[in-house]
Amino acid sequence: MQTNLSKELILILDAKEKRTALKIDFAGKGLNSLTLTLNIPGIPKTNELISNFFKDSINELKKHLIANRVKVLFNSEIITSDNAGDFYLVPFEDNNIDIKEIKTITENFEKEHLLGRLIDIDIFCRTAGHISSGTEKLCYFCGEHSAISCMRNRRHSYLEMRVKIFSDIEKYLEQKKAGEFARKISALALRSILYEVSLSPKPGLVDFSSSGAHNDMNYYSFLNSSSVLPDYFKAFCLLGFQFSDNLGKALPHIRKIGLEAEEAMLISTQGANTQKGVIFLFGVSLFTYSYLFANKKPLSENNFRNTIKKICKNIVENELSASKNTNNTHGEKVFIKFGNAGIRYEAENAFPVIFETAIPFFSSKLKINSYKNQEEITEHLKTALLKIMSVNNDSNILYRSNLKTLEEVKKLAQESINNHRIYEKLCKYCLKHNISPGGSADLLALSLFIHFVSNEL
Ligand SMILES: [Zn+2]
Repeated sequence: MQTNLSKELILILDAKEKRTALKIDFAGKGLNSLTLTLNIPGIPKTNELISNFFKDSINELKKHLIANRVKVLFNSEIITSDNAGDFYLVPFEDNNIDIKEIKTITENFEKEHLLGRLIDIDIFCRTAGHISSGTEKLCYFCGEHSAISCMRNRRHSYLEMRVKIFSDIEKYLEQKKAGEFARKISALALRSILYEVSLSPKPGLVDFSSSGAHNDMNYYSFLNSSSVLPDYFKAFCLLGFQFSDNLGKALPHIRKIGLEAEEAMLISTQGANTQKGVIFLFGVSLFTYSYLFANKKPLSENNFRNTIKKICKNIVENELSASKNTNNTHGEKVFIKFGNAGIRYEAENAFPVIFETAIPFFSSKLKINSYKNQEEITEHLKTALLKIMSVNNDSNILYRSNLKTLEEVKKLAQESINNHRIYEKLCKYCLKHNISPGGSADLLALSLFIHFVSNEL
């Protein structure tokens, strides 16, 4: 009578025989072939986790083969799952590279891959059968003996090996996903900033055709400082992935990266403060989205705003009392004078201005297609900026002027929506009074970012 184990073994051997038949089929057509399988001890040989790792390994291998100029016939590839596990088979031509060299190329893939000892790539030559390099693979579990030796001597139990393998695969896939997330979200952050600065003409602000009410910076200063930011964006993401303390303690960590970003900004612009506000806003936001991602929470408006509120709780009061009127920033001085103004006030309340104005506007108007039409996107960006300006107590305006001027700007901004003539008037008004709604411009960039994240991530 057969035991369960020997039944399983027969099924596995049967599956392997069918695999060999497929290779012989290709050989009959005059083609060599290459297989990718995973070394999974025990049964079952596959599950959802293993299969995700398998698909990832195939994608990585394909890039490796193409990069090494191996002429693989991807159109004829076979991907299946049977009792022996997941199986990938693909034919290739050997008219440009010697088959032994291809064996070395695939061995390098196994060596360079973080979990390469789990991956087996075999070459089946149309005339000579299996190509072996004669080297023995090390045991995945102990790394001391060859895999075959540990298997024959039953040095490790299937259970302990499977537990380690599954945990390693899970960690590998999670880290990879986090890396992809950081890359994508940092690109969206940079895109938002570039969109904002490129919108022309803008009232009092730096744009492509004018430096507005600024005499120490121009469009290229913004390109310079934007170019140094992506590294810091990724650092904010990494912090969000790793942060496990109370969110109320996150701000000093975020600020530390922010200060490094500011230093790089000042070097790139030869001393001009182009994007201090942007660094703060995007630092907190990138941290928040990455924190939500790492904790497997949806990147929804609610989750985003609640997390921001926890991070920035009492920020206005704390920062103002900490600075004691010495070396205060624009925002601080203005807040002391006027109360509910400035970027810290906005952050503490999770950006009410943009969630009431620009973000609902973008969700109804800014579609993927808009990006193809420069006139259309310019119009949408302009309208969103005006909507923000019409309600924002912009500390940059207050710093250079007074409450009366701010109220006039808010009124003109409201009237400028869809009215080109009044928009021109607003631009002239800002130049005449030497004011620049920099806080609103920063909030426009942040609105774009939040919109892109909710639509593209
Ligand atoms: Zn071992």
